Amino acid sequence: MTHNLDNLHARLAAVHAAIAAAAARHQRPAAAVALLAVSKTQPAATIRAAAATGQRRFGENYLQEALAKMAELGDLDLEWHFIGPLQSNKTRPVAEHFAWVHSVDRLKLAERLSAQRPAALPPLNVCLQVNISAEASKSGCSLAELPALARAVAALPRLRLRGLMAIPAPAEGLEQQRQPFRRLREALEQLNAAGLQLDTLSMGMSDDLEAAVAEGATLVRVGSAIFGARPVRQ
Ligand SMILES: *Cc1c(COP(=O)(O)O)cnc(C)c1O
Repeated sequence: MTHNLDNLHARLAAVHAAIAAAAARHQRPAAAVALLAVSKTQPAATIRAAAATGQRRFGENYLQEALAKMAELGDLDLEWHFIGPLQSNKTRPVAEHFAWVHSVDRLKLAERLSAQRPAALPPLNVCLQVNISAEASKSGCSLAELPALARAVAALPRLRLRGLMAIPAPAEGLEQQRQPFRRLREALEQLNAAGLQLDTLSMGMSDDLEAAVAEGATLVRVGSAIFGARPVRQ
């Protein structure tokens, strides 16, 4: 166990170093890139160990699993991000328990999250997920749908629209990996030019971190580089 925790601390430090190195190579301040530790399938004890190093932001994909871990870790001051596909009949616990949702891709979801966000909590931070590689099988709105969706979501009272999220199709090499992230950044710039005030580009995972940082990621979502390979989920 001690061995594993030492390992975890070393991996977290290595991810921070990789973010700092990528930021330096691409003329960005390292402090402009926050690390979201993607803890899906990891037990609460592992999250607690990561939190002991100062990691506060955790990303979860599976609602029931996330709620159980939140209950176990209620004594810690953590910021929970929901990053998985969301069904509209499951929005209430997300609105009640999370600080951020990265996977909003249609207005109905956003309207439900806004209506269900408890008045005692600050507005729910939201990113719109964009299907940036236009893959038929993937979640996310299209670039064509994005401007109208963003305007409508930004108007909802209990949400705070923060930015955009994407999971590009896998690609080899820095230049190839940068292209979809560049399109996402340009989409964000266009929305801001049209009057929105978005400050978040949620992009980059273990295998394409540098490309995302090069294109302006402000929040990278990293799982396996921190926690090791995940068991295959049944
Ligand atoms: C699992 C997951 C990640 C982390 O992926 P790794 O390759 O393990 O870094 C990031 N974002 C989303 C939406 C995920 O589902």
